[in-house]
Amino acid sequence: MKHLYEYRNSEQVKRLIQAIDKVVLNPWNIMEICGGQTHSIVRYGIDEMLPDKITLLHGPGCPVCVTPITVIDKAIEIALKPYVIMTSFGDMMRVPGSQFDLLHAKAKGADVRVLYSTLDAIDLAEKNPEREVVFLAVGFETTVPLHLTAIKEAKRRKLTNFSVITSLFTVPAAIDAILAEKDCKVDGFLAAGHVCAVMGYHEYHPLAEKFRKPIVVTGFEPVDLLYGIYQCIVQLENKTGKVENAYQRIVTEAGNLKMQELMKEMLVPADQAWRGIGKIDKSGLKLADAFKDFDALEKFGASIHTQDIETITQTRCIAGDIMRGNKQVADCPFFGVKCTPEYPIGAPMVSTEGVCAAYYSYTNFKEQAWS
Ligand code: SF4
Repeated sequence: MKHLYEYRNSEQVKRLIQAIDKVVLNPWNIMEICGGQTHSIVRYGIDEMLPDKITLLHGPGCPVCVTPITVIDKAIEIALKPYVIMTSFGDMMRVPGSQFDLLHAKAKGADVRVLYSTLDAIDLAEKNPEREVVFLAVGFETTVPLHLTAIKEAKRRKLTNFSVITSLFTVPAAIDAILAEKDCKVDGFLAAGHVCAVMGYHEYHPLAEKFRKPIVVTGFEPVDLLYGIYQCIVQLENKTGKVENAYQRIVTEAGNLKMQELMKEMLVPADQAWRGIGKIDKSGLKLADAFKDFDALEKFGASIHTQDIETITQTRCIAGDIMRGNKQVADCPFFGVKCTPEYPIGAPMVSTEGVCAAYYSYTNFKEQAWS
């Protein structure tokens, strides 16, 4: 735990808060686009420790939360076929579709199973040759290589009864779209450390230049987060807007070239619909033609065109506004009253990376794990 506790060290945290307090002169809004960072921020009360001049906004960094309703509906439609075993990560089970979620499909008789890894679905397909095993594969650049490794393994094992529904997103295009909005409130970004561990951070330079806003690669522990925020504030006060790396122990400019090669081989960029946000050009990834046999939507004749995908959240849910930085969770009248993990209205309440789930879990329980 050595490399965990030193990044939760209370003395270091105090020093960084003091350093931030010293440099901040103006009000600034900083957005993280990573559900893991969001949960750390709320869990450790980092948003409450910062000087009042700094507001943290929680961007669309949770792939479960931005997976469109149409994709959930298609997954349910396929799951209800009698010979299908529908699989995914646990938090996909409660994500509301237009009518109901995958757990309700299970109650209606669908064979829906929670798995910890896409690779588990390969084993399941091998053990059930008479069934079609489908994995609902969601993720940002971090998780994508895991899904791809499973597809490669399925190909190696010559499995013809395994396929995936992909809902894959890329972070730089989302930053571009948020910053391009007319009333954008975001002054600086914390780039997700784990995404950058795979992709590097070379893609962010043109964005920082285009919008003249700081983008700081940041980790997940309290010390990491505060250091990233500190670097961001220093840039903002100095009126600079460039990319910096505050997570050097993990992230390099080039990233993980092997994983990037795998992604180039198996995926092509695609326009992507983001739940609550809308369509963003080239902000997604889909399987390349050579791997189309593993595309469940093609296999079941259920393909969906991006322009037809429903990106509106349920009318009452303001998750889209929260993820674009225009509102905070506290602005939602349903939070903790009509929207709870047991009875969710929107996806961010049920995802383990969702912002509403973070505030719901930690509002009355701030992590006491300072070393
Ligand atoms: S609390 Fe529920 S309804 Fe409100 S924004 Fe979050 S998910 Fe949507």
